[in-house]
Amino acid sequence: MRNGDVAGPAHHDIVILGTGTVASALAAVLVRHGVKVVMAGDEAHPAAGLDEMGAEVTRHLRVLGARYKVPEFQRFAAFEPLLAELPAPLGAELCHSFVYQRPGRSPEPSEVMQVSMPAKAPPEPNLRRPALDRRLREVAESLGASVRTGAKVARVSVADGVVTVTDVDGERLTADYLVDASGPGSVFLTDRRLIEPGSRFTTRTRSLYARLAGGRPMEEVMRPAKAYGKAASWTGGSTHHLFAGGYLRAIPFGNHPGAAARSTGVTLTLDADLHPEQGAPQEQFAEFLSRYPALAEQFEGAEPVEPWVSTGRHQHSVSHTVGHRWCVIGDAAGYVDPFNSRALAAGLGAVNMLAWRLLEAVRDGDYATERFEPLDRFTRRSLNANDDLTAMLTASLCDAALAKSALYVLQAGFRFGGFPALDAYGQLLATGSDAAFRELEKAPYPGSLFPTHAGYQRLFTTAAAECAAVASGRAEAAEAAGRVFAAVREADFVPAVLGLDDPATRFVRLTPATVLRLVLWSFTRAPDDLGPLVRRGLRIALRGR
Ligand SMILES: Cc1cc2nc3c(=O)[nH]c(=O)nc-3n(C[C@H](O)[C@H](O)[C@H](O)COP(=O)(O)OP(=O)(O)OC[C@H]3O[C@@H](n4cnc5c(N)ncnc54)[C@H](O)[C@@H]3O)c2cc1C
Repeated sequence: MRNGDVAGPAHHDIVILGTGTVASALAAVLVRHGVKVVMAGDEAHPAAGLDEMGAEVTRHLRVLGARYKVPEFQRFAAFEPLLAELPAPLGAELCHSFVYQRPGRSPEPSEVMQVSMPAKAPPEPNLRRPALDRRLREVAESLGASVRTGAKVARVSVADGVVTVTDVDGERLTADYLVDASGPGSVFLTDRRLIEPGSRFTTRTRSLYARLAGGRPMEEVMRPAKAYGKAASWTGGSTHHLFAGGYLRAIPFGNHPGAAARSTGVTLTLDADLHPEQGAPQEQFAEFLSRYPALAEQFEGAEPVEPWVSTGRHQHSVSHTVGHRWCVIGDAAGYVDPFNSRALAAGLGAVNMLAWRLLEAVRDGDYATERFEPLDRFTRRSLNANDDLTAMLTASLCDAALAKSALYVLQAGFRFGGFPALDAYGQLLATGSDAAFRELEKAPYPGSLFPTHAGYQRLFTTAAAECAAVASGRAEAAEAAGRVFAAVREADFVPAVLGLDDPATRFVRLTPATVLRLVLWSFTRAPDDLGPLVRRGLRIALRGR
């Protein structure tokens, strides 16, 4: 199975660069199936201090745990077990809000939107990244992965069927195959000139982030409460504050019963051309707050509990993610923007696609590049789709109505787009077969919020074109927003009960009555390809598995 010349205790089947969540999840899966794995990471973690929305991350860990028989992942697969597993703080996500902000004014009550989880559903978790990385690395290690921490990789070579990784101290590791999960600064990608200069993406954004203690709860700022209608608690989940030129994501931490202290993870993402980096991150944040009175009031007196981090321009892309005896996953393979809060989850999705291929390659002693090429196509198309999504959002931000119409198109995708994966998970649990997951890899629109659905792709394309026309001065915002809402209305796969076709809708709630009406819709009016999927998806989602 292994290269005869180098087999020995220091030689491994697979070497993984990086010791983050993506790297550790892959290592744990592989060692569980008897593969000899070594991870090499320098622990100079770029995600230090990073707070993340974790709903998709936990879903992916649940799937990986079930598909690859790593029950340890269940400890990270829902809010309650995570409370015990990770050191505080954790954030509870019971609703998610969007608020349109204008300079010098309080938000208009008509320009808010909130999506709430079904009543009594457990909250989705928001996480501190370094804690998750550390715990997953411990899991991988406890299952048998070799972990070289403090190993700053200096060079990687692939010759005569052997991968050799050399760290800055000259220590060497050899393996049959390399998985690079070392983020955008990858030495391997840099040396091979695989990084596309300036990236191929149209998105041009950068972020500042920190976790803040103090300030006011959002409830005290969104006043008079009556004007904002039937909003659930604003601090019951995260909020994206949208404005022309960017967005501020605020994630409440310690907002659950029994939490010792509250804090807020803030990420300010700006158009890098409109807002070039000027001054220290904290000064940039203060300058930003000075333009938006409600946000200035909310964060008045708030202090960072960890230093601010400025990312510089985010976008990173590579020309190939698969080659002879190597592949690249996670942010190393590409990164667009934090808006849809799914990049880490996408990295775990890549683990799901890669792991069975690696297990078969190790078994067969055959690492032919063709075996891994579907991963390359999937990754590149997914990143391009994320770029399209971010471009649509960015273009829409110049106008509140247009931004709302774009968000409702995204919501239409979020509502049912995850159901094919849920369905595949349900089939895995019921039959033990992963055939549905393998089929999903062939979905026609990878990276789309609804990757299996042509109708959704058409709706998204229409909305993106309208937003682009406004941004380039070819269309008027209010009229374009009207056309986008009309397109949502005409889409037979968007049930009217959600109100996503109505500019006046502010609150999307999955109450028992809404769920009942959705089920009814799935029998009576939903297109044939969607009705049964919606019923199966709702059943699994409501069981919370
Ligand atoms: C502001 C912001 C907000 C975000 N919010 C979310 C969110 O809410 N939800 C979400 O899912 N995603 C979010 N993301 C994205 C998410 O953080 C990344 O997708 C994730 O960090 C990628 O993980 P990774 O393991 O691929 O890479 P990284 O986290 O970059 O890890 C790379 C690892 O490789 C190591 N390494 C690098 N170079 C070397 C070397 N030469 N030698 C040895 N080791 C090396 C590093 O130390 C590190 O451990 C956000 C990103 C940003 C910037």
